[in-house]
Amino acid sequence: MRKPIIAGNWKMYKNAAEATAFAEEVKASLPAAEKVDAVICAPALFLQSLVASAADTDLKIGAQTMHEEQEGAFTGEVSPTQLKDSGVEYVIIGHSERRQYFNETDESSNKKVLAAFEHGLLPILCVGESLEQRESGETGAVVEAQVEKGTAQLSAAQAADLVIAYEPIWAIGTGKTATAEDANEVCGIIRKKIASLFNEETAEAIRIQYGGSVKPANIEELMSMEHIDGALVGGASLEAESFLKLLEAG
Ligand code: PGA
Repeated sequence: MRKPIIAGNWKMYKNAAEATAFAEEVKASLPAAEKVDAVICAPALFLQSLVASAADTDLKIGAQTMHEEQEGAFTGEVSPTQLKDSGVEYVIIGHSERRQYFNETDESSNKKVLAAFEHGLLPILCVGESLEQRESGETGAVVEAQVEKGTAQLSAAQAADLVIAYEPIWAIGTGKTATAEDANEVCGIIRKKIASLFNEETAEAIRIQYGGSVKPANIEELMSMEHIDGALVGGASLEAESFLKLLEAG
């Protein structure tokens, strides 16, 4: 059985006091660690203080992106070793906003996924189609290609530990959620692709999240689906109360 993983993606929201207050409130009511993995992916500036707040609890802290090199002249970037050294455990890779506004690609995402594993971080690799691609019936092919390129050169053991977030771009921050059936269908396509790229065992083990306007009102239906093992949540992860409700459904 795959353990559900609910990850909040705060994007570029919150100040330091709000970040700490959130962690204090959430850790006081965190569901049992055997039930669900709870992850907060915060702006880089707050990662260290969140790791300190979450110490001795099962709340995990993640970054929203990283550079693939360990160190170097890359002004403004944060490296995998710096994240690991700060106690960060997860990192979102290739979010559609990174692809759209910061020129990230399947190839750069693949380098980052490999670097994350090399340095002991768990990547959450984001894939998903645009509205145009969905309307022209290309969803399956687009997502399969993203998965294949994004997981190139991974070992089967690494792929089993990878988290893939299926996030249709048209559902992110729009209030439009894919139907649970549509989301499940694409997550099933991803799982099948992992089976063909690696093996059945890896496909059974890998956790696939749905993301895009997930909220307390729709998470239970999404989580009841066979191939949906969790959620990557933007807007509804910003309030502790709402995030806790998502964890309860996880
Ligand atoms: P949303 O964002 O939940 O606000 O739609 C999801 C995401 O971008 O990961």
